[in-house]
Amino acid sequence: MSRIAYVDGRYLAHRRASIHVEDRGFQFADGVYEVIAVIGGRRFDEPRHLDRLERSLGEIDMPMPMTRSALGCVMDEVVRRNRVGDGILYLQVTRGSAPRDHAWRDGSKPMVVMTARRQLPPPSELFENGAAVITTRDQRWRRNDVKSVALLANVLGKQEAKRAGVYETWMVDDAGYITEGTSTNAWIVVGGRIVTRPLGPEILGGITRAAVLDVARDLQIAVDERPFSVEDAAAADEAFLTSTTALVLPVTRIDDRVVGTGRPGPVTARLLEDYRRVIAEFAKT
Ligand code: PLP
Repeated sequence: MSRIAYVDGRYLAHRRASIHVEDRGFQFADGVYEVIAVIGGRRFDEPRHLDRLERSLGEIDMPMPMTRSALGCVMDEVVRRNRVGDGILYLQVTRGSAPRDHAWRDGSKPMVVMTARRQLPPPSELFENGAAVITTRDQRWRRNDVKSVALLANVLGKQEAKRAGVYETWMVDDAGYITEGTSTNAWIVVGGRIVTRPLGPEILGGITRAAVLDVARDLQIAVDERPFSVEDAAAADEAFLTSTTALVLPVTRIDDRVVGTGRPGPVTARLLEDYRRVIAEFAKT
């Protein structure tokens, strides 16, 4: 089946879809993006994703490129044309193309690109046995709450994970506290309470992070939104990470240290089970 990409108002064969060489996303990473889970052909948690998109755009002085309902129509079409049942939709908005100059021209026309593809969650073996992570220095800019396409530090971090044969790299700030993973939020469990870094410019406000906080509230699991160090994580009872594609994934190794018993813990298991229930209910509606 041939894939289709949406580029600036047109649906194009994926292999031929292209943007201008002076697109500001290409030259300056002047743009933002979203990755939305597609479940049974429908977009999961879309309002939260569009809220975050609007916020990211606002933080870089850009309006939404079209109304939410127009975006919704295009997203429907991209998912339908690519025949995605379960998978992901990628949506990117850049400041469009212009002769190369750091400062932008007022009134520039944004470039909207969307793709969609089938994608399975991580293998069940990882959920059953837990994933390993390594740590590295967080060398990103200071506005990680903006879901910017400037992902070079994240790319280098993920490559380090790949080289080490582990799932993810958790990034550590100058004070020794974990910020987040290269494409996931980081969590630990201490004495039955879940701990995650508070929202702020240091981390992306993950949509799964928000959904897991809702789940924790429903399950009456106490939450501490505070920074935690690598040492705290290695000494924690449990650890896990969250993202649209990884869901709630137990972490059982950090660098060369075993977390807790070395097996996925009961609090993580309850959160994962309940989060999967929320997804299954969405699929039924
Ligand atoms: N943190 C970073 C840096 C990310 O890139 C992502 C997702 O891509 C996340 C966290 C998790 O966010 P979400 O739950 O919205 O997928």
